[in-house]
Amino acid sequence: MPSRRDMLTAGAAAVAATALAAGTATAAVPHRRFDGRVVLITGGTSGIGEATARAFAAEGAKVFFCGRREALGNQVAAGIRASGGDATYRRADVRDEAEVRALVEACVRRHGRLDVAVNNAGIESPRAVRLHEQTLADLDAVWRTNVAGVFLGMKYEIPRMLAQGGGAIVNTASVSAEVGFATIAPYNASKHAVASLTKVAGLEYAADGIRVNALAPGAVDTPMLRRAAEAFGMTYEQIAQDYPIRRIVSPDEIARVIMFLASADASAVVGQDLDATGGYLSA
Ligand code: NAP
Repeated sequence: MPSRRDMLTAGAAAVAATALAAGTATAAVPHRRFDGRVVLITGGTSGIGEATARAFAAEGAKVFFCGRREALGNQVAAGIRASGGDATYRRADVRDEAEVRALVEACVRRHGRLDVAVNNAGIESPRAVRLHEQTLADLDAVWRTNVAGVFLGMKYEIPRMLAQGGGAIVNTASVSAEVGFATIAPYNASKHAVASLTKVAGLEYAADGIRVNALAPGAVDTPMLRRAAEAFGMTYEQIAQDYPIRRIVSPDEIARVIMFLASADASAVVGQDLDATGGYLSA
């Protein structure tokens, strides 16, 4: 026997269908802003990228994503498909030019186009120490992933978007792209570079119908933040006190910001690093 909730849901669906038919659809109709759109995401095996893959797929997108952990990637893709979404995982390391080029080519070969690219893959600074104790090896490792990874992503995504007459790119920067944080110089500098690449690409391709933007998350509940909290010896409650909203943001909330920047709603937004920290950058 259907529950009261089932009946209410069925009732709402019937109302929505009627509204659609009458052309008076309202917010009651589920959003499908990305129906049939092809969305490429780097770093979709966990955290923000995984949530973003799920969220785009839930709005009808054909999601193609990478990460290095194959078992996890296949598991995430299978989970999305089990929920009725369209998702493909392909292993790629964003530090490797040939692999990034092959990733973009494989996405276009499978789906015939590329509408949205989310260059999200990133790593934190391996060690929380002051600058004179940082190593060149750590700087190189962080820059290779966070900066070269975003650079290579855009380098191979943009020609495809130029060829088809437009697209949207969203790069995951950070609050660290806008202010300094002690003891994480490699990460902090790399995210400033992501914001810089975003501004330059935003300017260079705006007239071609390709919008390039970034977003600046603050503290988001992902494996990266859990590792960072441990490295700093801080609890989530303590970290949250630095942010005006006094809480840790969820990966789903960040996925919504990425989708806004990728959507037609952000048609006038170019070259920005949008504050998604919950107020940190307004202080
Ligand atoms: P996460 O759970 O550790 O996810 C990082 C993702 O990047 C994983 O899917 C990882 O996949 C992928 N990745 C790392 N190196 C890669 C490589 N060489 N090639 C391909 N993929 C690679 O952390 P997250 O918090 O979601 O981080 C996502 C982005 O958000 C990063 O750019 C991060 O800097 C940024 N961010 C996070 C926070 C936060 O509080 N969590 C705040 C601001 C900005 P594999 O390990 O499978 O390769």
